[in-house]
Formats: sequence, C-alpha cells, structure tokens
Amino acid sequence: MKKYLHKNLLATFSVLSLLGATNTMAQVEKEWYCDSTLRMDMIFAGNSDSQSIFLDKMKVSQGWHGRRVNMNTLPLMGNGVICVKDAESQDTLYVHSFSTLFQEWQTTEEATRVSKSFENTFLIPMPRKEVYISIELKNIHNSTKSYFNYTINPLDNLIARHDSKKTLPHTYLHQSGDSKKKIDVVFVPDGYSAKEMKQFIKDCKESMKSIFAHTPFDKLKDRFNFIAVQVASEDSGVSIPQNGEWKNTCLGSHFNTFYSSRYLTTSNIQKLYDILDGIPCESIIILANTKEYGGGGIYNNYMLSSAQGRDYASVIVHEFGHSFAGLADEYYYDDQYVTMYPANIEPWEQNITTMVDFASKWQDMLPEGTQIPTIADGKEIYTKVGVYEGAGYQSKGVFRPVQDCRMKTNQAPGFCPVCQRAIGRLIEFLTHEN
Ligand SMILES: [Zn+2]
Repeated sequence: MKKYLHKNLLATFSVLSLLGATNTMAQVEKEWYCDSTLRMDMIFAGNSDSQSIFLDKMKVSQGWHGRRVNMNTLPLMGNGVICVKDAESQDTLYVHSFSTLFQEWQTTEEATRVSKSFENTFLIPMPRKEVYISIELKNIHNSTKSYFNYTINPLDNLIARHDSKKTLPHTYLHQSGDSKKKIDVVFVPDGYSAKEMKQFIKDCKESMKSIFAHTPFDKLKDRFNFIAVQVASEDSGVSIPQNGEWKNTCLGSHFNTFYSSRYLTTSNIQKLYDILDGIPCESIIILANTKEYGGGGIYNNYMLSSAQGRDYASVIVHEFGHSFAGLADEYYYDDQYVTMYPANIEPWEQNITTMVDFASKWQDMLPEGTQIPTIADGKEIYTKVGVYEGAGYQSKGVFRPVQDCRMKTNQAPGFCPVCQRAIGRLIEFLTHEN
C-alpha cells in the first residue's frame, strides 16, 4: 500500500513538473527564439602573437536541441565564450563556453613561425528578433585576446535555409526521453568502411558501456540520449603520419597533431557538422577505427578516440571528461616544465588548482587537518582527497585532488570524488528543470 501511494505521488509530481517546464519553455520560445538552430561556421586564424575571428557562413535547420534551461549563465568559463544579446535591450539571452584546438596550437613552437586557420562551428537557438552576437577568446592569462561582434537579423535572406535532403541514418543506443530535456550525445565514425558499420555500432555500445560504468554517469543515465550516426569512409582506418600512412576518411582524422604521436584530432569541423545535420547533438564523440593508441578531447567541441586497442575504454572516458565536463588533465611531466597554468591565475577547470582561489574548488571536501601540499603516501590513492602537487602537465605550482584518477591514468578505476562532483553539477545545470 505504502509503495502504491509513493508511486502515485511520484506520478503526480512528474506531471506537475512537466507542465511547469512546458509552460516555461513555451514562454521563453515566444520571447526570443524559434524551435530552430542557427549554425555559424567560423574561422579562427592567427599565430602565437595575434588572432582574428571570421564569419564564414550561416544556416538554419529545424529543431533546437541545446539547453533550454539556465540559458543566460555559464557552468564553466572555458577558453572562449559566445554570447547572444537582445540587440535592443542588451539583455543576455544565451551564453555558451568552449575551448578550441586553435588556442592549443597557439601555445606550440610552430605558432611562432607560421599563421594558420582553424574551423569552428557554433550552434545557437535561431532568434526571432535582431540579436547581437559576440565571441571572445581568452589566453592562458585569462585575458581576452580576440573579439568578434555581429548583429544578426533573422530575416537576412543570405542565411541559408535549405533542409538536408536526407538526414544520415542514425540509431538511438540509449534513449531516456525527449531531446529537448536530455543531453544528446552523438557517436560519429571515422575510418569505418560501409562493410564495417556493424563494428562501429559494436564499438559505440562498448564506449557507452564504459562511460556508464563510471560514477556519476551510472547514476544519471536518465539525463542522456546516445545516438550513433552511420556514415562510411572510403578507406578503413585513420591516418598515422609518423608511419607514413594516410587514409581517405570522412573526417580526415589523424594522429601526430602538433607532432605528438598519440594526439588524434580532426580539423574538418564543417564536414563534421554536415554529417550531424538534422540530428540532435550536444556532445560529440568521434570513434576512430584503429587499434593505435591515442585520442583528444576539447571542451564543448568534440572528442576523438581510438575505438579499439590498448586501454581504449579508459581513453574514451578520459577524453569525454575533457570534452563534456571540461575537466583538466591531472597528469604532469617530471622532466619538462610546461607553463599552461600560470601561478597567479586560478584555472577554470574544476579538478585542478593553483591555490589562488582554492575556496572555489574542493577546499570544502578536504578532511580536517589535511596537510597542504598533501604528501602522496600511496594509500587510498583514488579516494583520499588532498592537495597533491603535480597536475595540468606541470610538476610544480598546479595541484590535483587525489593521487590517481581517470583524468590522470588509464589504470585508475574511475573519476576521483572531485571530478565526480564537477560532472554531477554540470549535468544538473544542463538538465535542471526550473
Ligand atoms: Zn579527478
């Protein structure tokens, strides 16, 4: 009886919250955006000293699959921000943060010798009225180094409006609800031939299983949809330049990004969004059909990983930690002093600190009497929260929450308590119903 009553109460609550949410959404839509997406293809170009942002082209497609809650606030700062403001009132309507491969490249030695351009695509809700768009890129010192400003008139007849003739075949591997309320994660294949699509679906299922085996994703499965898009490449496998192997694949993914053997990325972002046209998409996982070890993940951009071979299941979750949750690497190099995180700046990533503003990080999770910095004693290495020196590629000046975590090694069994809390908070932010 008690059980029955509880079930009924739950049902009433769900219906009420559903009605409430629908009303809120309807009101907001009525105010400023349609149930459509404006795709903005941008070019970021420059070198280690200077950078510019260019608009390439814009296109409207049906359906808005991004978040409909907390639209005018940010959960994490990222290295760049795109902001939509009402042109008349200047009220912030939508804001979204991200990181880019371009900004990473700007820190390389190559960027001191040559200027290059990188594609970046942004999806924003299609406005009903004139809006003002700004894009800001920040450097490692957290100062804005580049601005892009533009006023969009929704009636501009040069915004393309053609619908895709045919959305590519796609399959739901996990569907917990309407894309308007859930986080839509899309798997995209690269280097799978037409004959290998079954293998791709198998690899997607394994990857999803690995993500859902990690806390807090295991407890929050009902906030996600996972979709697999099927698009075949001409060749099987992806390019491995260090071995002289180049393949013709739909996204042109390759290892040796920035001459690093295991760094696997693609620069064909517009092709990626062409593939995703018409498919709900808030987070992108590109699976490369290779056993070669490697991957890469960029916050609110995409992640790419080998779908087979050594430690692939751990690598996929690690990269998803970067691309979905904006977590930093907790590893560091002993023999190399790299400055990605200057000592006077508190990083925006939630799982590392320079102690400039530790109260904004995991200070509240420290057991009483914890020594700072905390000595790594080899005990309770995955769970004992402290302030361990060495993280974000730097052996000095940057600190991590535990001795070992999924964001540090492939051997760790999962995310540390600090990463778990950060992921949980982000999921709550993205799916919370007002
Ligand atoms: Zn961690």
